[in-house]
Amino acid sequence: MSNTFQDAKARLADVFSRIEASDDVDERLAHPKIMLEVNIPLRMDDGRLRVLRGYRVQYNDIRGPTKGGVRFHPQVSADEVTSLAFWMTIKCAVAGLPYGGAKGGVAVDAKSLSRLELERLSRGYIRAIADIIGPTRDIPAPDMYTNATIMGWMADEYYTIVRKNVPGVITGKPVHLGGSLGREAATGQGALFVLERWVERAGLDPNKMRIAVQGFGNAGAHFACLAHQAGYHIVAISDSRGAVYSDAGLDPELLMAQKRTHREISQMLYCDSSVCESNIYKVITNQELLELDVDVLALAALENQVTEENVERIQASSLLEVANGPVDSHSDTVLQQRGITVLPDVLVNSGGVTVSYFEWLQNRSGLYWEEAEVTRRLKKTMEREADHIFEAAEDEGVSLRTAAYLHGVKRIVGAIREQGTEEYFAQDPG
Ligand code: NAD
Repeated sequence: MSNTFQDAKARLADVFSRIEASDDVDERLAHPKIMLEVNIPLRMDDGRLRVLRGYRVQYNDIRGPTKGGVRFHPQVSADEVTSLAFWMTIKCAVAGLPYGGAKGGVAVDAKSLSRLELERLSRGYIRAIADIIGPTRDIPAPDMYTNATIMGWMADEYYTIVRKNVPGVITGKPVHLGGSLGREAATGQGALFVLERWVERAGLDPNKMRIAVQGFGNAGAHFACLAHQAGYHIVAISDSRGAVYSDAGLDPELLMAQKRTHREISQMLYCDSSVCESNIYKVITNQELLELDVDVLALAALENQVTEENVERIQASSLLEVANGPVDSHSDTVLQQRGITVLPDVLVNSGGVTVSYFEWLQNRSGLYWEEAEVTRRLKKTMEREADHIFEAAEDEGVSLRTAAYLHGVKRIVGAIREQGTEEYFAQDPG
């Protein structure tokens, strides 16, 4: 197993040195429970057959059924999926949800597939992993390059296989197919709730704060729009094709509306687009966006974006990790030494899985909530966990990431301890 996973685990070493935990815990959390690698046949529209590699990793289920998204991306690998499943284990514990952690993915350039190819792939993926998922076992959800429509196809395929309608098997579904109101915006909304709490504690004024957002997909776009509505200045936004900048502030809602119309933001924004040609906003490179002098750099694209290669050039006062693992562990230490605050992924983006949990509760009870109720409960959960982590970081003089990991790991340690550890079993009951 290679770098990303080793990096993810390395971050736990500091946490274990700060708590009294049996060696059992270290041993349990060092290994995923189930790693499934599958080859998925995909019939292309032109008649060709392609076989794509897919994965589902269930990392740890001691606190409940495992939960985690499915990504369709060319970089998907066993290492990446395992690391993300590990992070989900910690994240569900940080958010206080009764879940363990999992992740899945298919190594594919989803943008190169037609709608029908995408549907066949989504259904093929579920056929390949159906034996190990279920509402009380492992519950997939959307992640990079997967969305509500794809979750709807996946759920439908699962119902066909098990011959019953069990909407609790997958979350992030379209609302008309048993999805929760508020799920689509939940990750961005949750990230904003955390930022707002931190800004309030730091005595800062949102109206004077400048934010750059890397990634304009589900998480990044909702975050940018909601932060804009809350009075923050969104000065730069990027997607995989490039970035735009405006010193006076961008209008993310306009960009989002354009993206909805044109499907790809790049068609509207970047160098090959009409808007770009009319120079509404200045075009900058993705790397330039990361190095802007802003109050908050919100990283909402993918992992390992701040690394040894660029960490010294980061000028933002704080980083908001909306994506999973956007800062590697080396850079995390450097940023800390440079006095740059990192609001960690396991807290910041836990709004998505929290509303997925609400969706699962609604599916299982058959009672559906209004959007205001979903947002109210999300706010309460995010603020409760954020306050706890902010206070623990202050009290114990540790980074917010260490405080968040401590918070989650203590819950996992509690569960492992209750099942009995070396200390318990080594005792002579007589
Ligand atoms: P998405 O596919 O909807 O969006 C990803 C965005 O990132 C796209 O706009 C894409 O163009 C952009 N991107 C890709 N590479 C880039 C690059 N090099 N530079 C700039 N932009 C780039 O995915 P998403 O669901 O928004 O997920 C984004 C991140 O948030 C992932 O790390 C994911 O694991 C995490 N996350 C998402 C959710 C959720 O509910 N969607 C929940 C928790 C965490």
